[in-house]
Amino acid sequence: MTLNQFRNMFPDEGACRKYLEKVIWPSGRVCPHCGCLSSWRLQSNSARSGLYECSACAGQFTVTTKTPLHSTKLPLQTWLLALYFIIYSSKGISSVILAKWLGVNQKTAWKVGHAIRTMMTVHADSIGLLSGVVELDEKYLGGKPRFQHGVKHPRGKGTKKTCVHVAVSRKGSVRAGVIPGDSYAVLAPHVKRFVSLDARVMTDQLHAYMALGKEFSGHESVNHGIKEYARGKAHVNTAESFNAIQERAKQGVFHYVSRQHIPRYESPRVFRRQFSFESSCLV
Ligand SMILES: [Zn+2]
Repeated sequence: MTLNQFRNMFPDEGACRKYLEKVIWPSGRVCPHCGCLSSWRLQSNSARSGLYECSACAGQFTVTTKTPLHSTKLPLQTWLLALYFIIYSSKGISSVILAKWLGVNQKTAWKVGHAIRTMMTVHADSIGLLSGVVELDEKYLGGKPRFQHGVKHPRGKGTKKTCVHVAVSRKGSVRAGVIPGDSYAVLAPHVKRFVSLDARVMTDQLHAYMALGKEFSGHESVNHGIKEYARGKAHVNTAESFNAIQERAKQGVFHYVSRQHIPRYESPRVFRRQFSFESSCLV
């Protein structure tokens, strides 16, 4: 969708509200207080637009009640525009840039960005297991830059950096998650939560993968220790490039990502891959 198409689709608050109602209540209004399916629109002059009253609990609600947009003071158009920018930017957008583009202050843009990233969390249970050829790889994110003020900081394993694991299907879908280490005990349950045992997995020669690979229908590994990065169709380049973009986004866009927020910064990229937005990017 181009920015012009976006403007035509969402010319005013009414259009944005109608769109959200269609997406959030695809089979009709649901009271967010009690789950009742029967409610009526409040149409008095004092009622806010889009306000409904439940016929069972008499609670009042709008389409944003009990969502991350609950009690928002921002126009819905601003929220949808922020969503548009975040979806279409391949490496993400910092809150400073988002603030400029939306015309809000940086603190507000930070909160909007985080709420949207939370909403973009793709729940593994709702989209099934990865199958076919699946590449597994891990990446250590966070901490200080490798070179800073003449000091060389260590990288990767053995540091206090956060380990992010990715499983990338060569069909396109990705699952990413933060894990507390890269031992078999940690990796095995994590990977099996996302990847079908029928899959053919591709890995490097980390000890845990060599044991874990035997539990899948096929396993091939490349030996990075001897600079082997591909052997025929055996490689983890897709997973590594996914991780590399995340690293560049951290360095070039966000500059600093705290450990507690890393999963949220992964969400938009996983979401984009899942719903095929990766090919059309703003940045
Ligand atoms: Zn109710």
